[in-house]
Amino acid sequence: MKGMNLESLVSLTEIRSATDYATATQQPSSNGDGRGTDDDTWTLEAGRNGEDSLGQSKDDANEGSAKQGLSTVYSRAPLGLSAPLVRVEVHLGAGLPAFHLVGLPEAVVRESKERVRAALLTSGFGFPDGRITVNLSPADLPKEGGRFDLPIAIGILAANEQLPAGALEGREFYGELSLRGELRDTPKLLPALVEGSRSGRELILPASNSLEASLVSDASLKLAHDLRQVCDALIGLTVLSGPHDSVEPSDEDGHGRGLPTMQDSAYLHDGAPRDDAHRRARHPPVAADITRMGVTALTNETVPDLAEVRGQFAGKRALEIAAAGEHGLLMIGPPGAGKTLLAQRLPGLLPPLTKSEALEVASLESAAGRKPVSGSRRPFRSPQHTATVAALISGGALMPGELSLAHLGVLFLDELPEFDRLALEALREPLESGVVNLIRYQRSCEFPARFQLVAAMNPCPCGYVGDPRGKCQCTAEQIARYRARLSGPLVDRIDIHIELMALPVEHLLVESQERPETSATVALRVAAARQIQLQRQGKLNARLSPPELERFCELGRDSKALLSTAISRMGLSARAYHRVLKLARTCADLAGVPNIRRIDVAEAVQLRALDKPIS
Ligand SMILES: [Zn+2]
Repeated sequence: MKGMNLESLVSLTEIRSATDYATATQQPSSNGDGRGTDDDTWTLEAGRNGEDSLGQSKDDANEGSAKQGLSTVYSRAPLGLSAPLVRVEVHLGAGLPAFHLVGLPEAVVRESKERVRAALLTSGFGFPDGRITVNLSPADLPKEGGRFDLPIAIGILAANEQLPAGALEGREFYGELSLRGELRDTPKLLPALVEGSRSGRELILPASNSLEASLVSDASLKLAHDLRQVCDALIGLTVLSGPHDSVEPSDEDGHGRGLPTMQDSAYLHDGAPRDDAHRRARHPPVAADITRMGVTALTNETVPDLAEVRGQFAGKRALEIAAAGEHGLLMIGPPGAGKTLLAQRLPGLLPPLTKSEALEVASLESAAGRKPVSGSRRPFRSPQHTATVAALISGGALMPGELSLAHLGVLFLDELPEFDRLALEALREPLESGVVNLIRYQRSCEFPARFQLVAAMNPCPCGYVGDPRGKCQCTAEQIARYRARLSGPLVDRIDIHIELMALPVEHLLVESQERPETSATVALRVAAARQIQLQRQGKLNARLSPPELERFCELGRDSKALLSTAISRMGLSARAYHRVLKLARTCADLAGVPNIRRIDVAEAVQLRALDKPIS
């Protein structure tokens, strides 16, 4: 082999045994391009040693495999949050040179063929002369993008005996190739890495996807920069590092431990690891979690702090109650009242995501074709009011939309009445069920969408009704029509509605004496209140069902009296009554008291601004 040094000679034993194995069940190649025997040492060795074979048969290998002119490589298709296995089958036949790709959309096929051909040639491999047929099955899966470039290239090399047959066993391959053979950053990969790792196979993927790889805590992920490096690793000339390797592992005789060698008995016999215990030892199952490395790498971005917001004590208190009980929040106030500033600070009051939650959020980001950047921070999504129903529900073909990108975080809808009515209607179902169902390509796909809804609106079309300077010119009819744009049932699903006043000018000018509380301080109270709720009832107050409300939100006699007065004055619906109970429960939990007090009920009633007649 060209440029072979002493170090790589050490691996030659492996290579020889690999090619012994390859030739043991094969006839000499009849349609190679000749390059293999001219300047590829291991193929030359294979020719010489082909006779003293290992005598093992693997005709019915069900793992990735290769026989003469035929190979199967495993990869996975992106299908929402799942990643079904795809078999990339390559057949090399006699005949005029042709390259057929079956099972992919036409435009993708054309590009992929060109990339694979160029990448093989520029990486120094021979491109088979005869008729190449590549089939991606199952055929009915939506297969997009270039992630199948690497498996197709590897499959061609294996079918053409430029790679040993056993190199494909127990592995999955992912990655788009450049014309020069470099592995490119490949989108939507994280769900495939999670599912692939659970399969126990080793996954080989582009080094530029190391961020996604670092989120899956498993040793069976291997990163490569280009096609050549993958092939060198498959024949034992180099060792690929994993996303968590600081130093490339190697044992005393210079063999890397990253990739199993062909001498590894577990990989002989039938092409599958010999037993489950061995398999587990080599590929420990992926816990759905994120490594410490992954989280710290991602959480450097600053989160806006509550201390930056001056005044607006009622708004801050409502935000704290919303955070503590996971209640929906609607803020009504004129422009400049700080509605958006407050909403942006809600994630900073919520407890950080757990490891498995963070992986779930990162997988949704990846499935949407984005780089996962949230880390342990809760997502904050604020789609424009021009967003269509489609954009809220889905980000395109089987991609999560805004509601799912806000999963386990905050969905902020500014200028709520300006949203399309259908878009608002589309929120109702996910608000109840916590999931979004998509149907595309005759497949249904479910994305989680358990978000906390925060909305903001002006009190009237111009925004200044009630302004002491008399700025508002809106008629009563215009105001009524504006508010009627919110569907009753949607507003009814939002526990808290508060009115915010614009800050008086003196508040803005005079440097306040107050030492504003930081988000961290409030977050401690929120965490304590959440702990009380989870210990008492196993869920947060916003999610209590009516029977649970009766059980956990019992009122004393004077609290009851106060509430019935409020009900008769405000004409509360049964649903609104339940909201008040929940909110009173959260106020009591924030105070750390076991029984709901009169003051808690009074505060809860104040948090139902829209139940009051329009002033
Ligand atoms: Zn107005």
